[in-house]
Amino acid sequence: MLQNIRIKVNGSERLTPEEGVWLLQNASLLDLAELAEAVRFRLNPQRRVTFVIDSNPNYTNVCNVDCIFCAFYRHEGDKDAYTYSVDEMIPRFKAAAKRGVRTVLLQGGVNPAIPFEYYTEMVRRTRAEVPEIHPHFFSTSEIIGMSNVSGLSIPEVLSKLKEAGLNSIPGGGAEILSDRVKKKISSKKGTSADWLNVMREAHKLGYKTTATMMYGHLEKDEDIIEHLSVIRDLQDEYHGFTAYIPWSFKPGNTPLEKIIPTYATGTRYLQMIAIARIFLDNFPHIQASWFSEGKKIGQIALNFGADDFGGVLEEENVHASANFVHTTSVKETVDLIRSAGYTPAERTTLYDIIAEYSSGEYPASVIDTARLNVHFGASEILTSLPILQD
Ligand code: SF4
Repeated sequence: MLQNIRIKVNGSERLTPEEGVWLLQNASLLDLAELAEAVRFRLNPQRRVTFVIDSNPNYTNVCNVDCIFCAFYRHEGDKDAYTYSVDEMIPRFKAAAKRGVRTVLLQGGVNPAIPFEYYTEMVRRTRAEVPEIHPHFFSTSEIIGMSNVSGLSIPEVLSKLKEAGLNSIPGGGAEILSDRVKKKISSKKGTSADWLNVMREAHKLGYKTTATMMYGHLEKDEDIIEHLSVIRDLQDEYHGFTAYIPWSFKPGNTPLEKIIPTYATGTRYLQMIAIARIFLDNFPHIQASWFSEGKKIGQIALNFGADDFGGVLEEENVHASANFVHTTSVKETVDLIRSAGYTPAERTTLYDIIAEYSSGEYPASVIDTARLNVHFGASEILTSLPILQD
């Protein structure tokens, strides 16, 4: 079987779901790496690894969806619940832009008290008042929430956000696109078809999006391949996905911690990266995450098919709520890519190259020391936490 798969991969032939499951269950890590590297260098021939200088703030942690894998959300009225106005968020974006941040990935809980106009104003004012920042705003769950609050259809919501200036959205909210698992971990969040529908409508309108996957909880290998199959099928329709980003479940402070108390392993992550690169033959980029899996595993993932190193993440609160904190700086990010054997290149949200950095060169960002700049939300938790070293 492995030899047949090798012939197909080297001949640019698409693998079947059965072959995907077989690889996950039978191929050695090094065989996976060899196959994934063949696809990686066919699609991205240069020995270049991209990164983005970004920040992931949150405007509200109030949410009524109650996913059992989530440590971030609070209910309205909880003492540490928060919702920030557009007036409060814009100065944060301005301050981040001054420090060199170029992409803001903004997400929040699904908060039914927020009117739809809040979201369009957030986009419009960001474009007008902080033009240095690319707004990469709102997951599928929030967009479905906007539709419920406003009575507008999903295409109408997306059209109005687009008129306000949004042209890309993050891939969060997918978790595992297998309804067997979704029913158990996020029963109020909708089905796989709901996530795919928002993405399809966004792609039809010309949005670029990412696709994500959270593994390491109740899924089986077959669920992972089902997830990869449905996003591969959707990509065939409009080619709206820029990248695929897997990360592992972080159990700390979540209801699911009682059933799954441990982190997925580093080898499982490398399997996830490699199988994605082999299977998703129509995705331009696969993102390795120093942040969610640790810097050393992140570096190794660059030899398992990944060609992007994600963001510098000046601010992050969701993983931090689960007591999981890694930090880096722009300089360290560049050094991590370089020492893994690749040329670092800063990119935009949409994966256009801003600049390559040859030996000894660094971006001019002032995010030049390893730190986590958490202003809100999880800051109280973080003051008592050690920063993880790996
Ligand atoms: S993952 Fe998102 S939708 Fe689910 S509970 Fe957390 S904030 Fe709400």
